[in-house]
Amino acid sequence: MSNLHNHFIDWLRNAHAMEEQAETLLEGMKTRVKEYPQLQSRIIQHIQETKQQQAQLKTCIERLDSSTSTLKDLAGKAIATGQVMSGVFMEDEIVKGTIGAYVFENMEIASYITLIAAAELLGDSQTKHVLEGILLQEQEMSDWLLANMPTITKAYLSQK
Ligand code: MG
Ligand code: FE
Repeated sequence: MSNLHNHFIDWLRNAHAMEEQAETLLEGMKTRVKEYPQLQSRIIQHIQETKQQQAQLKTCIERLDSSTSTLKDLAGKAIATGQVMSGVFMEDEIVKGTIGAYVFENMEIASYITLIAAAELLGDSQTKHVLEGILLQEQEMSDWLLANMPTITKAYLSQK
């Protein structure tokens, strides 16, 4: 296997770790946004998408690396930005939490854009197709958060 191929698999493992982190962060946020039903239901939807993304990435990794057979072999390293962002994401204050979620989504977007470029270079159209589907879900979540930020902010402030 070429270095490029191995590097690509590493990146896919890291993306899988990032999605596990995303699930943890979204689950934490879900319980803190009870008073914002629209935000909560969008978060619940994205938790489902995130779990699906994990499974899709796992399938891609298994296809590319026949030695990967257990979840433990998936262990990757979520990039440091994600660790830093998780602090903001976990903020009790809903507005800061929403900003954190938006930044996290955009980190995911950047990650999938780099993965798609790598898949193109490798001529791996099957993985590229999967990554493009995931990218679309991240972009939709990012767009939703941005579009709803004024409403969330006003709802938060009017409770003060
Ligand atoms: Mg994701
Ligand atoms: Fe996401």
